Amino acid sequence: MQLIFEKSRPGRKGFALPELDVPVGAGLAEKYCRKQAASLPEVSELDVVRHFSNLSRLNFSVDTNFYPLGSCTMKYNPKFTEKACALEGFSDLHPLLPQLLGGGMLAQGSLEVLYNTERLLSEITGMYAFTTHPLAGAHGELTGVMLIAAYHKHNGERRKHIIIPDSSHGTNPASAAIAGYNVVVIPTDKDGLLDMSAYKKALSRETAAVMLTCPDTLGFFNPKIKEIADLAHAVGALMYYDGANLNAILGKCRPGDIGFDVIHLNLHKTFATPHGGGGPGAGPVGVCEKLADFLPISRVIRRSDGTFALDYHKHKSIGYIAPFYGNFGVILKAYAYILCLGRAGLIEASENAVLSANYCLSRLKDYYEPAYGKRCMHECVLSAARQLEHGVHALDISKYLIDKGFHPPTIYFPLIVKEAMMIEPTETESKETLDEFIDCLIEAASLAESNPEALHSAPLSMPVKRLDETKAAREPNLRWQQK
Ligand SMILES: *Cc1c(COP(=O)(O)O)cnc(C)c1O
Repeated sequence: MQLIFEKSRPGRKGFALPELDVPVGAGLAEKYCRKQAASLPEVSELDVVRHFSNLSRLNFSVDTNFYPLGSCTMKYNPKFTEKACALEGFSDLHPLLPQLLGGGMLAQGSLEVLYNTERLLSEITGMYAFTTHPLAGAHGELTGVMLIAAYHKHNGERRKHIIIPDSSHGTNPASAAIAGYNVVVIPTDKDGLLDMSAYKKALSRETAAVMLTCPDTLGFFNPKIKEIADLAHAVGALMYYDGANLNAILGKCRPGDIGFDVIHLNLHKTFATPHGGGGPGAGPVGVCEKLADFLPISRVIRRSDGTFALDYHKHKSIGYIAPFYGNFGVILKAYAYILCLGRAGLIEASENAVLSANYCLSRLKDYYEPAYGKRCMHECVLSAARQLEHGVHALDISKYLIDKGFHPPTIYFPLIVKEAMMIEPTETESKETLDEFIDCLIEAASLAESNPEALHSAPLSMPVKRLDETKAAREPNLRWQQK
């Protein structure tokens, strides 16, 4: 495909601006005025429409195809939430609207949305209070770890490390390190769970927190989770819950009841915001009561007369972690989604997510080795180790799936499973779609034995074929060159 700049022809126009009715450069200091016109592409409207329509068709998305990317929860999100976001009263609201003027009466509806979303998330997770400010899961983690640091500091303690299992998402150790902690990694035992003896050895009065994902990135719910939390609390450490997988347990159990002190959620995974490409997300953070005073400012409060306001006067707060109040549109979508599904709907979503993953696992387990040979929660991890005996890697199978119209599962993660393929089908896919995908994977397993070359050469149908990844890394060619 050509770049829009290559389509440019001198003098071609897609849009005519009205005649200028002010002096050129009025009021601007000479040094800020352009000497030359900006070199924008000169194209017709039709050129622009075709260019971007064709580009959009190169996108792979949940709206076009099945996208079982494990850990990322790429589910279909209902479009009505977009409608709620587009309502003028929300979308035209300026973040600098003087909330205190008229007692915040200009933004009561939006403040109420923030307040109610915090309450709903607290109820769903069993936490005492939430902040909606963090702008992504990783940002929520950093906020959560900063809250933990603030809590220990307030108690006059200097704790040095955070305990994290080796199956964790890479953002966990990264967040702990950015917040100034050393990371102590605990191996996974033969059952795919936290190695308890290594864990007990690592725990000490130096432990600031234990950061866990449950169900974890292997798709397992740790039955010893309560014992793990009790052991941490016994040495004064806090429990951090990475809630990226909350879609597996909605309405079934609550991290707060298990003993977690801090939790982040990914609204763009569990609660109806489409994601990918780094698009806007939200990673609200929930805390138990003893950590609530440290939450970032501002806090939405409800006054005794039932109106809402923003409170900035929290002297123990860790301060600002994001401009304004978080990604408001994402929070609003989550609110609309939770209200629409209600208690029964959220429970059903979780049950179906777990059912779908186990259906995939059951139909595929004779073709690909399941990690640790166990049933799973909302995602299943399979290994292509058997296929590797024929020289076929998880990567080859993924490329083959692309040709067949499926987004590959997450591969080579979690790091502890050889040739890992991590499948998260979500609750939104039909049995027919799951079957087509499974059949395709079974076909790939049989090709691995009969004709591995067919997998090595995939994808054949895509604008970009198999890349030489070493060359791409060693000699990256990232700039467009004028021909
Ligand atoms: C996605 C994910 C994260 C990070 O969330 P982002 O919103 O992508 O920053 C953290 N932990 C787990 C288990 C995840 O799946």
